Amino acid sequence: MRIQRKKAKPKSKKLFIIIPFLILLFSAGLFGIYFLNQSHSRQTTAPSDEKYYFADSKYSGIRSKFVTRDNKREKVSIEYPITENEKINRLISESIDKIDRDFQNTVLLATVFDKPMTETIGYQVTHNTSEALSIVVNIKQDMNGAHPASMTQFWTFDKKSGEVVGLADFTEQSDEAAEAIISAAKNSISQTIKQRQQPEIDLNEIINKEALSNFIITNNGNALAWPLGQASLLPSSYGELTITVPISSVSKYLQNPTARKLANIPEPPEPKPEPAPTPTVANKTIALTFDDGPGPYTEKLLDILDKYDAKATFFLIGSKVSARANTLRRMQSRGHQLGNHSWSHPELNKVSAEQLANEIDQTNNAINQAVGTKPNIIRPPYGAFNRAVLEQFRQRGMSAIVWSVDTRDWADRNSEIVCSRAVAGARNGAVILMHDIHPTSVNAVPCILDSLKQQGYSFVTVQNLIGDMTPGAAYP
Ligand SMILES: [Zn+2]
Repeated sequence: MRIQRKKAKPKSKKLFIIIPFLILLFSAGLFGIYFLNQSHSRQTTAPSDEKYYFADSKYSGIRSKFVTRDNKREKVSIEYPITENEKINRLISESIDKIDRDFQNTVLLATVFDKPMTETIGYQVTHNTSEALSIVVNIKQDMNGAHPASMTQFWTFDKKSGEVVGLADFTEQSDEAAEAIISAAKNSISQTIKQRQQPEIDLNEIINKEALSNFIITNNGNALAWPLGQASLLPSSYGELTITVPISSVSKYLQNPTARKLANIPEPPEPKPEPAPTPTVANKTIALTFDDGPGPYTEKLLDILDKYDAKATFFLIGSKVSARANTLRRMQSRGHQLGNHSWSHPELNKVSAEQLANEIDQTNNAINQAVGTKPNIIRPPYGAFNRAVLEQFRQRGMSAIVWSVDTRDWADRNSEIVCSRAVAGARNGAVILMHDIHPTSVNAVPCILDSLKQQGYSFVTVQNLIGDMTPGAAYP
């Protein structure tokens, strides 16, 4: 081996005379001539065994030029992309040729050829629109060393100008945007490393604007990617790794004409509209609620409410509804809200699933029959409910409404006491519980409305007090 190597060098012609092995002399001489030819002719003409041909690629508007060299020393296959832009073609072919030249030099200097050294260079187009072209060139070299080399070169081009688009162009020099992308890229690497159970690595020194300057667009224009060959940014033990950053995750930083031209940049998310200020905040409002009706005193209550221009909410017992359907229609026409209060007033957390469903549905149906709409609120009798009960409400698009002020009007059938309890408990946003089946309660209402109006309160339905409600949730 050692002898051969010495003889392989053209300079060592003196050795030819010294060593008497004719075969060795003959072969070494041949190699010498071959090398001289190679090094002499490389700059001007292709080696005689180089062949090339053109073919359409699978990418629109792009042809391929295939170059092969196949001999004892090397086995080479290179596919160059030929786009419609000469500038793009030149940059890529120069880049490929530089790599190929290094390979040829290695082949040239090598002396041992158990098998030919191989080089395969191909390309992939990951984004190809009228404006943008992203190309990855993959290079695989096996120079009979310990490790075959795998490298990539990649670019995104402005198809019209033929210029390479760098990260700084894509972010229009915005440091904030670049930082966001760098941070997302680090995140992508960390996740990959974690999935592969490779050791953690400090990426701060490695991943920066320069390292990420060249990028490709992938995923139909919806992602940025960096297909890293082995040892190109990370230590070689980490292998090949593609950094992917979904554009949606950084789209707010890419709201610029360049990025829009080249990739799919979603519109910035609409700023969430501020929740409409509810009357609760703007004014002092209260929801008066009346349970267990309709009853014989309900019509009188409606008169009182009309007089004060106050709106209220009625939680109705389903079994009582059909007999007083007119009262319900009047409630509705006067702008009051109708709610479900079960069919027969049980504790809903203690009845069977079947009865629970019936209590809700029969009442909803009765109310629907009277006024043409089903309620979206329900007050469980005694305020008794559990998760299963709420789930039944949720399935029907209904929310549970309890109360914040209990007048205990059913216990103290005394209008003055009921009024003073209501007034004492009143505060902005309060839901006051009363029962319109007791005349004392109905008679307490003028006192309540007078007192609280003087304090600046207005009286609204539960719906207007709370606003949008989530089905299956309990308020207030
Ligand atoms: Zn009740």
